[in-house]
Parts: sequence; structure tokens; C-alpha cells
Amino acid sequence: MAERLSGRRNTSRSYLARSTTRRAATSTLARRKTSAKPQRTADTIFLNAQIITLDSLRPQVQALAIEHGHIAKIGTDREVLSVAGKNTKAWNLDGATVLPGFTDCHTHLVSYGIQLHGANLRKATSISEIQSILRKQAEKTPPGTWVLGYGWDQEKLNERRFPNRHDLDSVVSDRPACITRVCEHICTANSPALQLANITRTTTPPIGGVIDRDETGEPTGALRENAMGLVLSHIPALDGAELRKAISLAMHKAVSAGLTSIHCIVDQPQHVRALQAMSRAGELGARIYVLIPDEWLGPAGEIGVSTGFGDEMLRIQAIKVFTDGSLGARTAALESPYSDSPDTRGVLIHSQDKLNSIIESASRQGFQIAIHAIGDHAIAMALTAIENARDVVPQCDKLRHRIEHVSVLNPDLIKRIKQAKVIASVQPHFIPSDSWVPARVGRERAKLVYPLRSLLRSGATVVGGSDCPVEPIDPLEGISAAVTSATRDYGERIDTQAAIELFTKNAAYATHEEKLKGTIQEGKVADLVLLDRDPLKVPPEQIRQIKVLATVVGGRIMYGSKRFQAMRTSNGRRQLARRHS
Ligand SMILES: [Zn+2]
Repeated sequence: MAERLSGRRNTSRSYLARSTTRRAATSTLARRKTSAKPQRTADTIFLNAQIITLDSLRPQVQALAIEHGHIAKIGTDREVLSVAGKNTKAWNLDGATVLPGFTDCHTHLVSYGIQLHGANLRKATSISEIQSILRKQAEKTPPGTWVLGYGWDQEKLNERRFPNRHDLDSVVSDRPACITRVCEHICTANSPALQLANITRTTTPPIGGVIDRDETGEPTGALRENAMGLVLSHIPALDGAELRKAISLAMHKAVSAGLTSIHCIVDQPQHVRALQAMSRAGELGARIYVLIPDEWLGPAGEIGVSTGFGDEMLRIQAIKVFTDGSLGARTAALESPYSDSPDTRGVLIHSQDKLNSIIESASRQGFQIAIHAIGDHAIAMALTAIENARDVVPQCDKLRHRIEHVSVLNPDLIKRIKQAKVIASVQPHFIPSDSWVPARVGRERAKLVYPLRSLLRSGATVVGGSDCPVEPIDPLEGISAAVTSATRDYGERIDTQAAIELFTKNAAYATHEEKLKGTIQEGKVADLVLLDRDPLKVPPEQIRQIKVLATVVGGRIMYGSKRFQAMRTSNGRRQLARRHS
């Protein structure tokens, strides 16, 4: 990456400038042929703004110019106006705030898109509300097709219980229906869906799965963990066009929330295919970094693909491997038993030996690895596997392995994270959501859950994400959670600047791109988010009310609010020039 950027100041253009967009490349050629003028002209300028660069040498500037997808100049309005020409698009931002574009380091973007296709049950506060939402969804869905819903949470329902097959049957009885809990570890199917999956009172659940039963032994419709597959595997997959439409829905939400880069965990080849088709068609609104399942490590190795394969809009980033489950479902692997279920310490997906061998071969193949580990036992195993790989694979440190979630920690584990140069990939929005943490692990251990400040203080690199669709795909919500929502029982608060860095500067490091993006500096890519207020200046509890005015990726405006559009100023140049003369 360093070479790519250093070339920029010379006559040869950087690799990225040449290939960010075909349009940019063409216009570069055109310029070379037709113009011998050495003077550079900006494509776009933003004036009269509060530009927070996150570069400690020059933390705030007033204006910036974009040329061929890169930040060509930063400085005062007057300095930036000096690179404007008659075709430069000018915006007078009227004091709005500009930050480096946000990155979400942990999403299931495709699943989110598929969910947006179904009914949203997140806000349901009763079984009857779920029923009325499903009734409407059934009306919208062609006869004979599945009725799907997502995001219910019995903790939010008056009844405080899981919805069952009878609840669903009373509104959808003529065709299969299935609704997934917010955690995606439990679902409830109606009778036609159970019938289709051949789930009866005599069905044995698969290993690692539970079929809930009533007092008579009949399935209630609720299926946990691996038992979900019995029903979910019957839901017809979206075809290519539907999938692209679904991803576009999710992408639009992400980009309008200020995201310019998204780490996207996939588990189906058709998801990668859809993303590639979208990239080819210019339909990606943000840069996509794909995290692929560890089962694909072998095939990827066979064709010589590793971290970084792809281009500036879509690339293969890492191998995702699971160590344990989730705290909510009591499947995260703990060192000592759950406080509210003393006979379990959670589940392990792999033995230590197996995990070691996955991490080692990923490292040998040049793959960054993203290890899902939530419980303290799982995190210790992940660290052991990485420490082992560091001993035997010389290039291991360069890959910047990461642990996803790193929820239940302790001072020793934090020290090992720092020492092994492991990136801690956290989701601050878990703090306000996971109110059951003290119940699961007890008050003492709860103090060690989501310790954001201790992680940062250790000197480890910490990056931020949402785990969407589990949590909202909204970095300002994540930042807000990191600075406001720590409770006395669990979760540590960090300051706003540090919270912003999780989603910008630090995130760029996670994709080996700290020289290319993550701060606002001349020569870096023009990935920016424009906000109506400065998150560093508003009271922390107002951060989540800040509005995104525009999102810029590689110099292209991928989202612009009405207010932003009105800031476009044809006479901005004259206006501002006059003000400064
Ligand atoms: Zn996840």
C-alpha cells in the first residue's frame, strides 16, 4: 500500500487513482492527451466546513478538494479555492462537520438484506402485534410462498414467552411461515412449515440443536441452534436478481448511515456472486470486504486467493472461523459455568488442535483470520491458536489476525491480545442491548464484559462494528453506545474521539489500509461522511440524533440528503472568494 500512495505525488498516478472508477481512469487519459497544463483542478470542493481529520498533526481544517477520487488538498477555504476550476463542483457546507467515512467491521449485510425482504418484528411488544404484522406480510406475499419475519425478542413481549406454532397458525395456516428471534439462534415455525420439515413428536433433534416440546411432547414450533436448519433449509433461496435487490436495500441503509466501507460476512457462494455482479454493474454504494467461512480455506488455497484479492470496491479480506456461540443463548464458551445455568459452560465449535490447524494453515496461505470468540474460554483458545501460528509462520503478524466480539475478558487475556498483536473487533451496541449479561455471568464476571476502555488502554488495536442485523447498521448508534451506555454492572465507556476512531482510523488498519484511508489527509482516498453536527461537541447523549448529510466514497457522492443537495453552490466560489478578499 505504501508504494501505491507514494507514487501519487510523482508524475505516475497511483494504482488506486487509476482504477477506482473507470470514469476517473478515462478522464485521466483524456487530460493527458488534451492538456499540457501542469495546474491541477479539483473535481469537487467542500468549503466552510468543520473537517475533523483524525490526523494529530493537523486535527481540523476548513475545506478540502477532491480530485480523481482522492483528497487533493486540505486547508482554508482560500487555499482550497486555489485548486478549483470552472468545472469544479462546489459545496458551501455552512459549518457542517466532515469526518473520514465510517467503516463497519462486522456485518452480515446479505442476511440483513434478506431480512428487509421479510417482516420486521423488532418492535413487537406482544404476540398479537407479531400476529398482525405477519397477517399484513402474508397479504403482501404471493400465495403459496413462505411468510417470513425477523427480530422478535420475548423479553420485549408482554407475554414474556416465545411465540409458538399456534400463534402463527391463527394468522398463517395455508402455507409455511417462520419467524426468527433477534439473535438468530432460535426460530418459530408454523404447522405447515413443521410438516414440510417433517418435524413430529418423534423427531430426534440434530446434534447441537433443540426442538422445543409442550407438556404432551408435541413440538411447540420453537427450534434452537442446529435444529433451525430442519426448517430453514426448506425456505427457497432468493434468485440472483432478488438477492441483488435485497443487498441493495441493505446497502442503501448502510450508506445513508454514513458507511463507506463494510466488512461483510458471507456463507454462500451465491452471496459472493451477487456482490460481484453488483460491483460490475457499479451498484456497490460502499467498499465491501468479504469475510469467507473457514470451509472455503482449502478451495481458496487451491486457486491461490488470499487476503486482498479483488479491487477497491470489492475484495476478499479474511477467513471467518467460529470458536463458540453466543452469551444470550448460553452457548458462548466460559471458563466457569453460567450463573443462571450452573450445569453449562457453553459450547465449543472446534477442539484446540483443530482451531490451531485452521489458523496455522490460513496464516501460511496469507489469509487474515477473524475468529468469532465471545466467552473467556473461547477467547483463550483463539489466542492460543494465534500464538501457536506466530511461532511457526513468519508472516503471521503481517496478516493482522482479529478476534470478533471478544466479550468476556480479563486482564490476562487483554495482555495476551496486545502481545500477540491481535485486533479486537468489538460491537459497542451490544452494551445497551445485552441487559441480561449480569444474569448470565453474575455480577463479578459481568465487570469483565465489553471492557472497551481497558482494551484501548492496553495499546491493542480495537475496531468497531455492528453485527448487523443483530444490531442496527448505524455507526453513530455504535459510537453513541460506546460513549454513553456503559452500566455499573458491565461495559466500559470510552471518549467520543476514541469511539469514532474504532469506526475510521483503526478500521483502516484492520484492512491494511491505514496509509490509504481512515483519516483525512492529502493523497488518501476521498471516503467521507458529512454530518449536521459535530459529535465531538454535542453532549454524548445527543450523538445518536446527529443526521448524516452525505456519504462520499472515492470522491463520488453515494448518498446526499435534501439539505446537502441545497448546499451545492454554483456561485460558491465567487461568494467565498469575495468573503476572503
Ligand atoms: Zn456476527
